[in-house]
Amino acid sequence: MTVRPNVRAMSGYVPGEQLNDPEIVKLNTNENPYPPSPRVFEAVRAALTPNSLRKYPQPLGDTFRKAAGRVLNVDPDGILIGNGSDDILTILTRAFVPEGGLIASPTPSYILYKSLAEIQGARFAAVPLTADWQPDADRWPRDAHLSFVPNPNSPSGTVIAAERLAALAGLVSPAPFVCDEAYADFADDNSLALLPSTPNLIVTRTMSKSYALAGIRFGFAVARPELVRELVKVKDSYNCDVLSLAAATAAIEDQDYFRHVCEKIRATRDRMTTDLTALGFEVTPSHANFVWCRRADRPLKSIYEALKSRKILVRYMSYAAGPVGHPEGSAYDGLRISVGTDTEIDQLCAALRTIL
Ligand code: PMP
Repeated sequence: MTVRPNVRAMSGYVPGEQLNDPEIVKLNTNENPYPPSPRVFEAVRAALTPNSLRKYPQPLGDTFRKAAGRVLNVDPDGILIGNGSDDILTILTRAFVPEGGLIASPTPSYILYKSLAEIQGARFAAVPLTADWQPDADRWPRDAHLSFVPNPNSPSGTVIAAERLAALAGLVSPAPFVCDEAYADFADDNSLALLPSTPNLIVTRTMSKSYALAGIRFGFAVARPELVRELVKVKDSYNCDVLSLAAATAAIEDQDYFRHVCEKIRATRDRMTTDLTALGFEVTPSHANFVWCRRADRPLKSIYEALKSRKILVRYMSYAAGPVGHPEGSAYDGLRISVGTDTEIDQLCAALRTIL
């Protein structure tokens, strides 16, 4: 069969392991350790009628767009819905990047951006982050057809100040500049306020993390309405189903619950940072729902394996290059550990004490 050569050459994006063991303490894919709002369950039950399942869902998700527009104080027509924010990133790639075009993103960062470039038959510029995890404007390719910048970044959990993002967006304008805000709800700031003054900015969000809805797959983008009208042409006609639309709408409408959960996660993150530092890890201060930690005295992969054998799953990540300052030519690796419940973090620290 004639698979396109660029697809055959890909290694492909491999998501974190999903072990089917209820006893596992799962801290590897940044899921929310708490359940979604109780209102989500009511809304999904209410949407489970013969008629609603028989009919197609709203193609643009207008009910969700109105709710999200109200909560985020943005124009509902500037919201594009997606089957997870990965779907949004795919739509953006298809809409903006010609074959042979150029996608730029910082590195180390979210690995999917490179896969998207490969599928599209595009070139990929991995721009090294500075030692303090900031994108290097001097090295950013001015001719990128599409720039992806996650803020907070994964795996580091670090943030970029809004003025710096706006300056970077200006460098590539009028080409689109995507701020991937999958983890922004755990940070102090986000880039939505830049939208009116930054015409080429597209902000992407997910309901998978802060709203605890990774299982239903729902994400969205916020951009100028005239841009969203173009992007709609590229997406599948009905890319979100009635149940996920009902769940996402109920979740975003329950802001009290959302704030409460985010606060708990931030508090556990800070305590986890202190505990892991006391255990001898070098922990990068995080603004997300995970922490990035390293140590020089032990192979990090062996710590990951020892934890896994004790039914604690964290993410071991290895990159061809690290931020500026990491010795060139040597792989850069670390453990990315999601914020769990306080009990789960107690279990993690107890296991680490034994292993180390
Ligand atoms: N962006 C970043 C930076 C992520 O880490 C993730 C989660 N893997 C996503 C986007 C995609 O999230 P989802 O498709 O669940 O919305």
